[in-house]
Parts: sequence; C-alpha cells; structure tokens
Amino acid sequence: MTGDLTLYAENRKNRPYEFVHHTKMKTGTGENCPFCGGHEGWTTEAVYQDGADADWQIRVFPNMFPAVSEENREAGSETFYEQQAGIGRHEVVVDTREHLETIDTFSEERIDRILAVLQERSHALQEEHTAYVQIFKNCGPSAGMSIRHSHWQLIGLPLVPKRIGNMAEKMKQADCLFCKMLLHEQKEKIRIASETKDFLAITPYASRFPYEVWIAPKLHRRSFCEMTPKERKDLTHILWALLQRIVGIREEIGYNICIIDGPKNEDFHWHIEILPRIGGFAGFEYATECYINMVLPEKAAEYYRDKK
Ligand SMILES: [Zn+2]
Ligand SMILES: [Zn+2]
Repeated sequence: MTGDLTLYAENRKNRPYEFVHHTKMKTGTGENCPFCGGHEGWTTEAVYQDGADADWQIRVFPNMFPAVSEENREAGSETFYEQQAGIGRHEVVVDTREHLETIDTFSEERIDRILAVLQERSHALQEEHTAYVQIFKNCGPSAGMSIRHSHWQLIGLPLVPKRIGNMAEKMKQADCLFCKMLLHEQKEKIRIASETKDFLAITPYASRFPYEVWIAPKLHRRSFCEMTPKERKDLTHILWALLQRIVGIREEIGYNICIIDGPKNEDFHWHIEILPRIGGFAGFEYATECYINMVLPEKAAEYYRDKK
C-alpha cells in the first residue's frame, strides 16, 4: 500500500544479543565475543584481513546471520503482492581487535584505512548480483547494535530501496538538486557544521533526529567507491572531528553512520548521514513518516561549529 519493503530473515532471530536494558557501552569482557582478536575461528572465513590472526586490526567476513543470502532463497508465490527473493550479500567489517574500543577514539590514519576497506568491499559486492550496497555502522544499543564489539556492515541488495530511488529521482530533476542544495547551504552558512577543502557537513533543513548531520563531497560525485585517496583523507578529517563532537552531545549516546551511495550504474550525489539516536521513532513517526525533532538544525550546526 505504501511501496515500503520488508526483508524477511527468520534466521536472524538466532543471533546473539549482548545488551540488556541500561547496559553501558564500555563494560563487559570479550570472552564470549566472536569479533575479538583470538576468536577468528568463531566466525565465517575472512574475505579480508589486514594482518595475521595475532595482529590484524581490520577483518571482514560474511555475516553469520545474514539478512540476505547468496543461496537461492525463494520468493513467495502470491502474485497479488510484489515480491522478490532476498538474494544478496551481507558482510561484517570488524574495525578493531579490542572488545571495548569505539570509533571515536580511533586516529585519523586508522579511520582512513577503514574507509579504504569499506570502499573495496562495497566495490566487490557491486560486482556481484546487487543493485545497491548499503554500508552502515550502529554505535550503541539505542542505535540497534546487538554485538558491542565495534563493527560495520555491508548489505548488497537485489533492488534499489525506495528512499534511495526517490533521492536519485529528485537529484535528477534539477541537474543534481543535491549540488544546488549544497550551494544554497554554503550561501546561507547557518546550517554548516564543518567544512574542509572537498567536503561539507550540514545539519539538514528537515533533520529527522536532533543533531543529525550529513557529510557530502562539495563537487558532484556519484559513488563512495570512486572517491580518490586524496579526497578520502579530507573526508577522514571531517568525520573524525564530527565524531569527537557527537560523543559529547550526551553520555552513552547511540548513533548510526550510514553511507548513502549511488545505485549501480545510476547518477547520484553520494553522502554520509550520521543519526544520533535521541528521542527517535515513536507512534507518530511510524504512522506518518513525519518527524518530531526538538532541536533546530541551526542550533545543532552551532553546536558542531563550537570546537570546545
Ligand atoms: Zn569482542
Ligand atoms: Zn550533485
């Protein structure tokens, strides 16, 4: 009725969940954690690892409880509904071998290496039978994190999700509406959170979450995968600096980092959306897809610009 999609993955109900209500982020040991250094045999076989088992810092492997799968999952047979088999690829990128380390404490050099691996893996997934690759990171239980150990996920989907498709259409309308929006924001200045030579961070005019912030290449660039190492260094700097401010919003803040990339073979203006999980979705939001936000984006931008 709405065009929204649901991905059924019954296997995911078996996955471990490490948080109980009010669990703090930085507590617990990694003794039962499949992502910790030394537990390599507990996961599926790595498709990438940047060092030996004793000293890797980044390790990539297929998700043990994938939301989509390479096996031939069958679509339902009721032709009344639109449907498609959930074929794709779901990978996990563990970005530290230490159980309690969080991304906001990583050096810029380390974040740069992680982004490079994400580019490589996303490219590899696009080469397979996927139409769109979603890269995301959940930080904290309020952001949907089920295993505390820092990691990213990539899900290669057989179709382009509605939100991404809608954005691609909008961008096309005005010879990239996104480019025009960035020019408008540079002129107005009030919603600029941070700026480097190649990237602009803005708090969107219609932010869904308090302190929501988007990082985008200033020039029209269709894909995260096509970013040059020089551009990536610039992105790393702005991302690192924003993370320092995000963890300062409040104690134990949960947030998502989502890389909104161009669908395969389609024009787009790729960007990163960082969503601090304050307040968040309740009945009204689910019913209407209209958001109640208690912080104006201009105030949020002021907070980010204030480097104290
Ligand atoms: Zn761990
Ligand atoms: Zn553009």
